[in-house]
Amino acid sequence: MDAKKTDTARLRLVQRLDVTGRVLLLPRMTPFGTRFLAASFRAFGVPAVVMETYKGLSLGKEYTSGKECFPCQVTLGDILYFLQGEKERLGSRFDPRRYVYFLPESDGPCRFGMYNKLQRLVLDTFPEYRDIAITYLSTQDAYSVAGLLPAHKARYFRRVAYVAAVIADVFDRIVWRVRPYERTAGMTDAFMEEAAWDMEALLERVGEARDFQALLDRVEEVARRAAGFVDPGIARKPRIGIVGEIYLRTHPESNQDIVRQIERHGGEVVDASIAEWINFVSHERLRKMKRQAALAFRRKDGRSLKEAVRAAGLQKVEIAYQAWRLKQVYDRVLRHLDIQPDHSIREIEKFLDGGRHFSFEIGTEAALSIGGALAHVHEGFHGIVNVFPFTCMPSTICSAILKPILAQKRVPYLDAPYDGTVQPNREVALRTFVYQARQYRDRQQNGNREV
Ligand code: SF4
Repeated sequence: MDAKKTDTARLRLVQRLDVTGRVLLLPRMTPFGTRFLAASFRAFGVPAVVMETYKGLSLGKEYTSGKECFPCQVTLGDILYFLQGEKERLGSRFDPRRYVYFLPESDGPCRFGMYNKLQRLVLDTFPEYRDIAITYLSTQDAYSVAGLLPAHKARYFRRVAYVAAVIADVFDRIVWRVRPYERTAGMTDAFMEEAAWDMEALLERVGEARDFQALLDRVEEVARRAAGFVDPGIARKPRIGIVGEIYLRTHPESNQDIVRQIERHGGEVVDASIAEWINFVSHERLRKMKRQAALAFRRKDGRSLKEAVRAAGLQKVEIAYQAWRLKQVYDRVLRHLDIQPDHSIREIEKFLDGGRHFSFEIGTEAALSIGGALAHVHEGFHGIVNVFPFTCMPSTICSAILKPILAQKRVPYLDAPYDGTVQPNREVALRTFVYQARQYRDRQQNGNREV
């Protein structure tokens, strides 16, 4: 009984807590996104650090059973590797109470809600890590940061972090649009790395004051300069859309750098954005509020009805705000470079064909991946790759639905599951896929005649 009580108390160390002044440890996901999120935290007085990634994979695998989702093993490896390094570096000065580990979660229906609980149990097996708190954002309240920062900062931080996420998406899209056509090999990556450092510094400097104008000006300048790297003599390549599970498709180490692999075989890639997921989560919350209002109305519960209507109103304002900021950032870039615009959630839902292919009511990333892939086909993309952790539930659903639809449309499609092992036929599969995409593109350009 006592042991059970202790376990429950320890699981409370997965909690919302004010992280001001504590070293917030972020596992790296996207090349730019996590860095900009950390910079946004630093702007608001939280010394956030992005941990090195993938170096501790063997640790992540050692402390899991093999049944967990791959991103759980990777992130667990990241935190264990980081802490091991800190212990060695600081020796007796290592103080676990200085750190807070940041690991977001979702409220179902799959296992993402359990990563931080499982990792809590693993950290507790090391006596020296038992006092490291774990904090999170959740899809349940549309990534509200209430509780993580003082109330007067929380709302503003969320908005800055959202804009930082859109800027990171746009940085990715600049790289994908320019790199396959660059005048000199390596110039895009070198320039964007420098631009990312500048953007981090700028976010830290102007984030708390919410000087969005300065951020927009800098984004525009980056796009303007990057556009000059494109060699007009290189013909446009087949365009490949990547959909799938958010961590795997955006974490180059876990997906064995699939974007570069496709580029090497002669394709141009657009991966689904992070903002798309945040916007989806915001819309999901609005749906939930509307359902609650309808329920309260049927029950004639005036107080609950008023509360749900009020919450839905606030959520609508947040959704409108996000759409406005997203448009501002993309508009600035599109003045100079034709990157792929982001899909709105309404647009994606439209491609689910009134629930015939899938429904937002079921939720999960499958809704976004299926709708997003079909939107890409409508936009003239020449192939779709579904990137996901081996055994991922939403991505397996996505595969089952997309494969026959795209086969009927004769659009090349590839499933790319990953679990950390190197698949000997992956390179051939990708090369063949890009070849098929080129053939598809040529057929389209020749009025669908066989070529
Ligand atoms: S989305 Fe896939 S990988 Fe992520 S928790 Fe769910 S099942 Fe696991």
